[in-house]
Amino acid sequence: MALRSLWLDEALAGEEDAPRLEGEERADVCVVGGGYTGLWTALRLKELDPAVDVTLVEADVCGGGPSGRNGGFVLSWWAKFTKLEHLCGGEEAVRLARASADAVAAIGEFCSEHGVDAHYRHDGWLWAATSAAQAGAWDETVQAVERHGVEAFVRLDPEEVARRAGSPAHLAGVLEPTAATVQPALLARGLRRVALERGVRVFERSPMTRLERSRPLRVHAARGHVTAERVVLALNAWLGQVPELKNELFVIASDMVATDPAPERLAEIGLMDGIAISDSRLLVNYYRTTLDGRLALGQGGGALAHGAKVTGIFHGEPPPGRAEHVARSLHELYPALADVPVSRSWTGPIDRSWTGVPFFGRLRGRLDVSFGAGYSGNGVGPCYLGGRMLASLALDLDDEWSYSAGLLPPHGGVPPEPVRYLGGRLVRAAVARKERAEDAGKRPDPVTARVAALAPAGLVPVKHR
Ligand SMILES: Cc1cc2nc3c(=O)[nH]c(=O)nc-3n(C[C@H](O)[C@H](O)[C@H](O)COP(=O)(O)OP(=O)(O)OC[C@H]3O[C@@H](n4cnc5c(N)ncnc54)[C@H](O)[C@@H]3O)c2cc1C
Repeated sequence: MALRSLWLDEALAGEEDAPRLEGEERADVCVVGGGYTGLWTALRLKELDPAVDVTLVEADVCGGGPSGRNGGFVLSWWAKFTKLEHLCGGEEAVRLARASADAVAAIGEFCSEHGVDAHYRHDGWLWAATSAAQAGAWDETVQAVERHGVEAFVRLDPEEVARRAGSPAHLAGVLEPTAATVQPALLARGLRRVALERGVRVFERSPMTRLERSRPLRVHAARGHVTAERVVLALNAWLGQVPELKNELFVIASDMVATDPAPERLAEIGLMDGIAISDSRLLVNYYRTTLDGRLALGQGGGALAHGAKVTGIFHGEPPPGRAEHVARSLHELYPALADVPVSRSWTGPIDRSWTGVPFFGRLRGRLDVSFGAGYSGNGVGPCYLGGRMLASLALDLDDEWSYSAGLLPPHGGVPPEPVRYLGGRLVRAAVARKERAEDAGKRPDPVTARVAALAPAGLVPVKHR
């Protein structure tokens, strides 16, 4: 793949690929997919039992998918609390959200312990409003969390929000202090390095062409196969191609841009730390600085996949006009940076589940094939938990992680084609119209508002979705 993210270009410089899968390999567990989920799973398997023989098969290079292209927000699940509460009840939702906050810290500890310099900065996440209509988008979540005696969010006054965000476009917001940011591809490549050190056999540029559901299982690639007792499918958006899971995911692009390095300009607006910032749109803008003084901004609601197929439009540059659109959003949010050039752009697929939280399970109840995906744009932190759950499922353990996986089964609900694609386009256009009207301080027309309300919820809680 010629064009990669800014992050991957930095992280891959001077690195060598792992070998391709050729001939026959045998393993106790074969993990398919070398993003955070697959790598954390492989590492956890080795932690639980160093004698387990683990292979990992990746279509591209480890971190070549969203794990090496994302915004680098390492978030907890506190913002998803109402959804978790709806799915598994208040007590379990608190337990899972606490575990997700611990995961943010554990990722930082992993980096220090193993010398992975992934630019981990622990400065929190600002959930902000950039229009009057967005203000209070967090209220229901903050109150639900507080009802359980947890103070996960800090209410900030408007001046403090604008100061922390480095721009007066930010009108209100709350801070979730446990969050961090990373250079995402450095994290992915660091996980790969440690996995190799632990004895995980990694094969890159070896897409699985077929999973032969024999006993033992066979993971086929073009020039070889792995025969394994257990298989873990850590395929993110690509999981939608597994027939049993075809109604679990919408695949929709998120697009990112980054400015040239301009550390002195960031210093002028007071945006120097590693804070992660999101606005409260459904077509969310999310942004942060980089260590070399760039501003990187991503925007949800890009290209939609037909049939959840991750085609070429989900790789490389965003489609024509889209990068310019996202760059305009960056300059609207930061008018003081209007003359700082935006020099990089890239795209990647989001594995959006109907509920907005990930799901885990075993394929048709088979003990030997487990899967997990559906992080819905919040996977950098939660994939750590996914790795724990999938390792426990693969080893058939009866522990807190297999229990947690049981609380988050696939829910289906994603409509079949052509409704998914055509309906998705219609709803996305209505959401864009609604949010444009709100930016201009107007109310959207009633039809637009009604169609936009059909969208699966983003950060803003919408009950039962
Ligand atoms: C632009 C963008 C911005 C994002 N920003 C954030 C953010 O700031 N914070 C956050 O928490 N989340 C963010 N996300 C989501 C986050 O990146 C994902 O949730 C996370 O990386 C998922 O990790 P994963 O290992 O499950 O999937 P992936 O990283 O996608 O790994 C799956 C791997 O499977 C491989 N694969 C596919 N098919 C095959 C096959 N047939 N055989 C073998 N391998 C195969 C792929 O090449 C890929 O490497 C963002 C995503 C995108 C696209």
